[in-house]
Amino acid sequence: MEKQEAKGLGRRLVFVVYPFQGHINPMLELATILNSKGFSITIVHTEYNSPDHSKHPDFSFVSIPEGLSQTILSSGRDFATTFLAFNNNCEAPFQQYMEKLLEVENPQDRVACVVYDGLMHFAQVVADRVKLPGISLRTSAAATLLAFAVFPHPQEQGYISFQDSVCQAQVPELQTLMLKDLLVSMTEKPTTSLLEMRATVTNATKNASAIIVNTMHFLEEQTLKVVQKYFHAPIFTVGPFHKLAPAASTSLLEEDMSCISWLDKQEPKSVIYVSFGSVASMEEKELLEIAFGLANSEQPFLWVVRPGSVCGSEYVELLPKNFWESAGGRCCTVKWAPQKEVLAHDAVGGFWSHCGWNSILESVCEGVPMLCHPFFGDQGLGARYVCRVWKVGLELEGVLERGKIEKAIRTLMATTEGLEIIQRAKALKEKAELCLSEDGSSYNALNELAQHILSF
Ligand code: UDP
Repeated sequence: MEKQEAKGLGRRLVFVVYPFQGHINPMLELATILNSKGFSITIVHTEYNSPDHSKHPDFSFVSIPEGLSQTILSSGRDFATTFLAFNNNCEAPFQQYMEKLLEVENPQDRVACVVYDGLMHFAQVVADRVKLPGISLRTSAAATLLAFAVFPHPQEQGYISFQDSVCQAQVPELQTLMLKDLLVSMTEKPTTSLLEMRATVTNATKNASAIIVNTMHFLEEQTLKVVQKYFHAPIFTVGPFHKLAPAASTSLLEEDMSCISWLDKQEPKSVIYVSFGSVASMEEKELLEIAFGLANSEQPFLWVVRPGSVCGSEYVELLPKNFWESAGGRCCTVKWAPQKEVLAHDAVGGFWSHCGWNSILESVCEGVPMLCHPFFGDQGLGARYVCRVWKVGLELEGVLERGKIEKAIRTLMATTEGLEIIQRAKALKEKAELCLSEDGSSYNALNELAQHILSF
């Protein structure tokens, strides 16, 4: 591959966003990165969870109706059903938009391809129809491509079985990930919608002209080799995007910056930051166990209590007086934090996370060790990577219980076992920095991706 910088001048990329925070962030970051390489950018998004256009004055935005009422979207309907509805409802308006765009195309501003979130698979179908290449973006680990690819028809795969003994087996190609790590989200009986989702996403990805994954090559080296066998298109591991893109906030909720001045007053590496991302929710009982586990750990903590963290609650109104009496002096709560800034702050010594992939990458890049409590989906896989493959975190397994939480926080923040984890987290951060620096794998993959797009 040529070393010279690829410049995408005169070429436009049409991005199609999946409308949830953990997908919007990486997609807009990738768009920013490719815009800095000279490509013009159009962002196609649903009316639901529209990104803030004013934060990206260089992009064109197009809104398409997803046709789902706010009530349905916020009703907690199962993920796969909502996903299928997005794909069914957005296909026709997107096709109309693309046909119109190509009709009036300016030769100085030709559309090079459609870059779509892998979950918006209708975009590949439309790209095929209008004879444009499609690029599938995976905002999660590369291993999830494999999980989707093998599970629609698990029995047809030679070694895949749901039997427990087989699930305990180590898959030699997958570092120390085990088969059951890929099965994390499969332990429950998959619904028809979930199976349909996995199959359609995989089929679209098989038709893609390239696959971009927000990961670093060294993090998933063995897995990537296996993934490449399932998909013929080249895979570009250009992550983590947030380190390559200038920091324009893509938050849907307002970031409460007051926590940064609170962090400024704390001792270096003393604070445990607690956040379960933008979607996970819990019972009131769990919220209370978390609260008292944190309070009893006697460690200072910064806790994101998102509106709706507990169904129907707005913020911290469910926390009792004795919690504030016990922890008030050592805690800061916010509805939404500037997470990347928080993780980069010197006062933060640990991150208790649900293990969303963005959170994992953001933590790895700052060398912050993790306490992992996955809630659903690919978060279990992320936790396995953190705790068993890279060994930069501790898993908080099973039911949340205050004694267990207190012990886990103390182990991470104040024991020799914790110190070893902290040292490995630091070493991982250094490897990530190398990846992003000139001639590192992500740096090179980005240039190769730009060249690849220009070859269309
Ligand atoms: N995030 C944030 N402030 C918060 C909590 C989360 O900015 O208080 C961001 C976080 O930095 C990450 C994204 O929201 O980029 C969450 O994505 P992730 O994949 O970790 O989890 P998801 O929300 O998809 O479950």
